[in-house]
Formats: sequence, C-alpha cells, structure tokens
Amino acid sequence: ELANRMSERVADVVKALMQNGIMATQNQTIDADTAELIIEEFGHEVTRVSDADVEDVIDSVQDADEDLKPRPPVITIMGHVDHGKTSLLDAIRNAKVVAGEAGGITQHIGAYQVEQDGKKLTFLDTPGHAAFTSMRSRGAQVTDIVVLVVAADDAVMPQTVEAIAHAKAANVPMIVAINKIDRPAANPDKVRTDLLQHEVIVEKMSGDVQDVEVSAINGTGLEELLEAISLQAEILELKANPERAAQGAVIEAKLDVGRGPVATVLVQNGTLRQGDIFVVGEQWGKVRAMENDQGKRVAEAGPSVPVEVLGLNGTPEAGDVLNVVETEAQAREIAEYREKAAKDKRAAAGAATTLDQLLAKAKADENVAELPILVKADVQGSAEAIVQAMEKIGNDEVRVRVLHSGVGAITETDVGLAEASGAPIMGFNVRANAPARNSANQKGVEIRYYSVIYDLVDDVKAAASGLLGAEI
Ligand code: GDP
Repeated sequence: ELANRMSERVADVVKALMQNGIMATQNQTIDADTAELIIEEFGHEVTRVSDADVEDVIDSVQDADEDLKPRPPVITIMGHVDHGKTSLLDAIRNAKVVAGEAGGITQHIGAYQVEQDGKKLTFLDTPGHAAFTSMRSRGAQVTDIVVLVVAADDAVMPQTVEAIAHAKAANVPMIVAINKIDRPAANPDKVRTDLLQHEVIVEKMSGDVQDVEVSAINGTGLEELLEAISLQAEILELKANPERAAQGAVIEAKLDVGRGPVATVLVQNGTLRQGDIFVVGEQWGKVRAMENDQGKRVAEAGPSVPVEVLGLNGTPEAGDVLNVVETEAQAREIAEYREKAAKDKRAAAGAATTLDQLLAKAKADENVAELPILVKADVQGSAEAIVQAMEKIGNDEVRVRVLHSGVGAITETDVGLAEASGAPIMGFNVRANAPARNSANQKGVEIRYYSVIYDLVDDVKAAASGLLGAEI
C-alpha cells in the first residue's frame, strides 16, 4: 500500500525497511513513524491523514435558509407488542398508497410513503422500537414524529412506557393512537388517565399531545390520525435542501443472493441520484439502480424519500449514515479508514470474550460445557423464539445457558452482566446504545447483531458444537 501510494516498487520499499532494521513482509503493517521515515528516504512528501481529514471530504456545509424547501415528515409507529403497530401500518398503506398505485404490488423496503391532502408522509415500516433505537444509537435521527399506539382494551403496558421514554429521549413529538376502539372492552379513557402517570397529557385531558381513537381493523379514525400527523408536521416546519449532495440513513440492509448488497436508504437531505458515489458506514458504493416503495425504478430520490439502493460493495448496518462524495477514491478511502478504525478499536479491547475464546476456554477446562449468552431482541415474540431455540441446542455434554433475555436496546447493564458471566450478547434487531458500546469495548464484551433468527441460532450452534467437536 505504501509502495503503491508512492508509486515505488514493493521490493524497493521492503529493502529500504530492511536497511532500517525492519524485517517487514509485503502485507505487514508498519507504524506511522517508520512509514514517514521511509517516505522521506524515497524523497516524497508526507501528509499525515487524521480522522478529521478523511471525514472532511464529506460535505457538511450548512444549508442557506433560501435553499431549504419543505419536506415530508418521517413517522415511526411505536407501542406495546400486539397493540396493533403492524395492523395500523398496513391499514394506512392500504388506504393511502400514493395516488395511482392503489392495488399495485407494494414492496416491503422498510419504509413507505402515502399522500394526505396532496402532501406526502413517510412511514418507517419497521415496527418495534428497534429501528428507532438502533438508528439513534448509530447517530442517525430519522424520525420526526412518533405515533404511540395503545390498545384501548389493554391500556399502558411496559413497552408503551419504553416507547414514551424513547420518544422523549430523542425529543420527538408524539401522537397517541388509541387503537382497537372497535373492541367491546375498549376503554379509551383508561388509556388517557394511564398516560398521565407517564407525563403524557393528551388533548382530551387538556394537554398538548394529540390523541386519536382508531381501529386498524375497520378503519375508524385513520383519516383523523393522518390529519393529526399532518398538523404536527406543519408545526415542525420540516425542511431540507434538495439541491445538495445527498445524505441519508440506512433503514434496512441485506445481502440479496441475486442482486448483492441492497440497502433501503431514507434520504434526509439533498437528492440521491443514479450514478452517485457514496460512503455508508464502513462501506462504499455507486448507485447502480434505485427502486421506490412501489418497486419502481427511479433515477433520483429527494428528502424524506425511501429508496432501495443497489451498487454497494458490502452490506451496511441499519442506522449507518450515507454521504455522497465526489470520487470513488474518496469513498474508498473513507470506508477503509473507518473499517480500520473500527478494527483497531476492537483489537484494543484486549482480552475479549468472543465466542471463539469461550470455546478455547471451555476446551481447556473439561468441566465447562455450558455456553452462556445474553439475548436482547426488538420484540418479546422474537426474544421468546430465540430463547426457545437456544434451549433446544445441546445435549448431555453441552448446553446453552441464556443468562438473561430482554426487549430493547443493549444497555450498560447488559454489558455488565455479560462481562460478569463471560457471555457474549446476541442482539436481534436491536443495537447497543452508545454508553453500552463504549463499555463493551472497554470490558472486551462481544456484542453480535442479527436480523435473522436462523443466523443467530446457527452461530450459537456452531459455537456449542465446537465445544464438543461434534455435531449437535
Ligand atoms: P403489533 O405487535 O403491535 O404489530 O400488533 P399487530 O398489528 O400484530 O396486532 C396484534 C393483534 O391485534 C392482531 O391479531 C390484530 O388483528 C389485532 N388488532 C390490531 N388492531 C386492531 C383493531 O383496531 N381492532 C381489533 N379488534 N383488533 C386489532
């Protein structure tokens, strides 16, 4: 790499290193001071690149007021499991798919747009708190409005409280959708009074949080809910500059067998165009093609528009920020720099508790045939499914022990528990918040992220069977 950058022959660089007493091979990493010495010996000029230099390529200039144009609001639906998040998202989509597309095949790309009174609204179609929390923990704030769904026959439940906490922490305004109003046992006033205890005072209780009674099943109140959202959006005066280089956030990403890595990107500022070169987290790429939420090819996507992007060199993670840059060389350099920085950080974690190390430890100690793990998932259902799958792994000689399973982002408390037990943390559709990430880095606790249960189960199976050196 060094030879390459100086346009010198590798053999000459290796020779120069040897003459300086460093027996390096072609692929060995040398420290910055040595590199500097060699560069000077070859008569080249040294420019030390810092974090800031690399990242500076990204256009972070503030937009002038006159360049800012109104943009659609981005809405996330949150609430307790089974209170109707998915049903409500489906009901809104079915009732309001952007004009002309009704009846068309809608594609799940993690977000969709509907039209209300000629204005667009963007819904993040990833129910659960995962999207919201994971995005925030990775530095992307994509949600403008939270719709808090509370079932009228169940009132405020633990994840309702959690959702309120998330919305408040992110400083995002809330609208309460009191769902299942069609149910005979529906008691919307109980929802309203319950919410008071959590400092959510709805309009009906003379507060300023809008509340709407809805039924995702028969469509009651949907129109009112969309109107409430539009009103809230107007108050927020959301704006972006469609004329600049695009910046966005990854909503979902996967490796598609036929198409390679694909990511659903919500454009947050600027306009993303076919052919644009970008860096996204530790990956980079060139927009080969884009599809909207209707599965239609589009050549460009402006602010608040979700698009599926093809042309990535690797799979980014949900919450990664995308920035368009000018050249491929810049994109590659930033991505490589970030990747290396992340690797160094992991390496610095030292005596890490990785699955592999656990395995080695277990092999050394014949009595240990237990693989401890911690599970955090986006919804209770997933957590339960994972725990059940974990219990099935193992036999007389080895078993997986789930120390703790819970719902929500991975926190410092989880990291503490994992460290104490020498367990890795398996996150399913959730991410670690910043303090937890730092703490895990310091303590050397491994956190693994999954979005497919089978992948998680397979990894644990592999580790467990590794303990025995046999198939399980
Ligand atoms: P989520 O876990 O919050 O996404 O909840 P779902 O959308 O999966 O809904 C949970 C259950 O409640 C499903 O069986 C839905 O059919 C039902 N449900 C959702 N909304 C309503 C509603 O407005 N009325 C009635 N009666 N049932 C509903």
